[in-house]
Amino acid sequence: MALISKTNRCVVCGSSEVVFDKESGLYRCATCGAESKELMPVSDAAAINRIALLGDDEGRLEELRQRYPRLDITSWSQENRLQL
Ligand SMILES: [Zn+2]
Repeated sequence: MALISKTNRCVVCGSSEVVFDKESGLYRCATCGAESKELMPVSDAAAINRIALLGDDEGRLEELRQRYPRLDITSWSQENRLQL
């Protein structure tokens, strides 16, 4: 598994497909189209990275999924199950 640390995530949907637009000074999300001055809070992004690497050992994934509908780690538990 690749160790990818994604700290820039959309504050609206949770996608990591976020690019900074220099002209407007806003972050633009390629997934949902949101433009925002803010990214997902670092504490949330860190929790998601942790879950992607180690699994949902703190039981936070459901809560995060409800807040951010497009986290791209939905397949984690399935992949893990297939490996067992
Ligand atoms: Zn988004």
